[in-house]
Amino acid sequence: MSRVYNFSAGPAVLPEEVLKEAADEMLDYNGTGMSVMEMSHRSKAFEEIITEAEQDLRDLMNIPDNYKVLFLQGGASLQFSMIPMNLMKNKVADYIVTGQWAKKAFQEASKYGKANKIASSEDKTFSYIPDCSDLPISEDADYVYICENNTIYGTKYKTLPNTKGKTLVADVSSCFLSEPVDVTKYGVIYGGVQKNIGPAGVVIVIIREDLITEDVLPGTPTMMQYKTHADAKSLYNTPPAYGIYICGKVFKWLKKMGGLEVMKQRNEEKAKILYDFLDQSKLFKGTVEKKDRSLMNVPFVTGDQDLDAKFVKEAKAAGFENLKGHRTVGGMRASIYNAMPKEGVEKLVEFMKKFEAENC
Ligand SMILES: *Cc1c(COP(=O)(O)O)cnc(C)c1O
Repeated sequence: MSRVYNFSAGPAVLPEEVLKEAADEMLDYNGTGMSVMEMSHRSKAFEEIITEAEQDLRDLMNIPDNYKVLFLQGGASLQFSMIPMNLMKNKVADYIVTGQWAKKAFQEASKYGKANKIASSEDKTFSYIPDCSDLPISEDADYVYICENNTIYGTKYKTLPNTKGKTLVADVSSCFLSEPVDVTKYGVIYGGVQKNIGPAGVVIVIIREDLITEDVLPGTPTMMQYKTHADAKSLYNTPPAYGIYICGKVFKWLKKMGGLEVMKQRNEEKAKILYDFLDQSKLFKGTVEKKDRSLMNVPFVTGDQDLDAKFVKEAKAAGFENLKGHRTVGGMRASIYNAMPKEGVEKLVEFMKKFEAENC
């Protein structure tokens, strides 16, 4: 068996320890004589798995008691609709568009009410985060929406927008559990877990209780009402059980690592290795404004498409997988999530130095 350094943006690298544990438990989970994939979601064994997963997440993020944690399906993309359907009481919401995902969420919300694009960084191919200290927040906005870490473009909000008292809703898919957050600053925090937490198929929604009501847009399907899932503790129907089990293991791994403060330090250290190299390289350069750089997704280019393609090909042959940039941006992107070891980043930089020497 040999494992590569996987720089995929998602689904992405998971801690090897977690994968090994899951492999050990594949045929017989904890003396049940069956795999977690095979067990009833109403069984005692699974009840323990989901209860512990929620508690561990609450511990890691310091989630206050007046927030619910929901394990849902439909990916982050279904939240683009669930959020307006559940939260647009006045049918008005403000969106800050910092990339493709925020743009999709904005377009989806426009189907259900008046979605206002109050700021955007599209003028410079989303290479920065706009100044959000004094935006024209709508008087009657039900919420202000952001995508906190822009997976495709590699930008991250270093300070949250001033929402002038309105509820903040954030898609944190690609920075989930990468550093501590103050949950109380948000009404809703949500993310697909396949970027930094677990296997595709689970989306976690952390939502303040007062936002969970029966007063949703007419016609909202039962399965798309937060109340349905909150009342049933994420067991209204069959949840993505195996995925939740793996997420639970990753939460335990994060706790063992020392929690989110430690993860933040590690992630800063890893990102610095790559950014420092990019900043002095004669061949490669980062594509994002320095102050807005993501710790998780690092896009870079040589400035020559053929050379980019050559780099991606040679990197792959050397055991560095999935470095090709998003199809809408080109170039390269290294996603260096929690589970990417520091050694992976160091080796990538060594390889980039060698490539630079050979091609410059
Ligand atoms: C990947 C991603 C999405 C889309 O996730 P799906 O689970 O495929 O719907 C949305 N937002 C962000 C920030 C992402 O990185």
